Amino acid sequence: MPRLTLWLVVVLVLAAAATPPATAALLESFDGQQREFDYFALALQWPGTYCRRSRHCCPSNGCCRGSNSPTVFTIHGLWPDYNDGTWPGCCSRSSFDPKEISTLTNVLEQYWPSLSCSSSSTCHGGKGSFWAHEAEKHGTCSYPVFRNEYDYFLAALNLYFKYNVTSVLNEAGYFPSNTEKYPVGGIISAIENAFHASPLIVCSKDAVEELRLCFYKDFKPRDCAVGSDIKIDMVTSKGSCPRYVSLPELGSVRHDGLQSWISDDVTL
Ligand code: 5GP
Ligand code: 5GP
Repeated sequence: MPRLTLWLVVVLVLAAAATPPATAALLESFDGQQREFDYFALALQWPGTYCRRSRHCCPSNGCCRGSNSPTVFTIHGLWPDYNDGTWPGCCSRSSFDPKEISTLTNVLEQYWPSLSCSSSSTCHGGKGSFWAHEAEKHGTCSYPVFRNEYDYFLAALNLYFKYNVTSVLNEAGYFPSNTEKYPVGGIISAIENAFHASPLIVCSKDAVEELRLCFYKDFKPRDCAVGSDIKIDMVTSKGSCPRYVSLPELGSVRHDGLQSWISDDVTL
């Protein structure tokens, strides 16, 4: 096992051991208004594409960490979905409590960073962190598989490390590049061959912006495709990717024609 992966497994196991059974009720107070979900989608974002939108920097923006900014897919969210292509949202009245996931914060900052400075809407009319948004909008709907915030975030991390999309793509010869274009069918096949299920890909123009992996409620991989998704040449995409796509390198985009965001004066 590579040393980094081994280290992460140790961190997660220690975090799990150090955390008492979560008491908070974020998911316990599932309001039962929406029917139970059918499957999970693990939504991953590609920083090289997403960070092109960052117009300015702030301490919470993962795009602004210079050489420590993520050069791998990072987590957007773990989303409960329905088989008909719709999904539930905001399934509980209670609010995100960052204390519940304090033992996971370091790992989350690295692998589930916000790639934006804007605060996110929460379910009850407020504003909060990216994690608060994801936990309240999607996490609350993962009941009864998860009944607390800690289990929800830990499961997302475990799936992310177990199904390592970036390393699968690297092994198949797909690396971040501002000049190469890759066949989208090749990217999908590499993931299908590795995980035996087909992902969903989302593009912004010709750049890969998101990749979604899907799982049954017992966390076994399953195909993401649902009726409303667009299928071209056996490739499932939302907002249709072209046949050849790029995986842009991080930080090469200049917003103002003068200065790249990576050279913005930011200290974390
Ligand atoms: P967009 O319109 O940018 O595709 O999605 C906006 C937001 O809607 C997402 O960030 C996510 O919260 C939600 N969303 C979009 N597609 C899906 C999906 O397939 N499943 C779930 N659960 N939420 C989605
Ligand atoms: P979603 O599209 O998941 O429903 O909403 C994401 C919300 O979180 C939006 O309000 C967006 O501005 C905010 N946000 C903060 N950081 C990120 C990020 O790294 N990626 C995405 N997709 N949204 C983010």
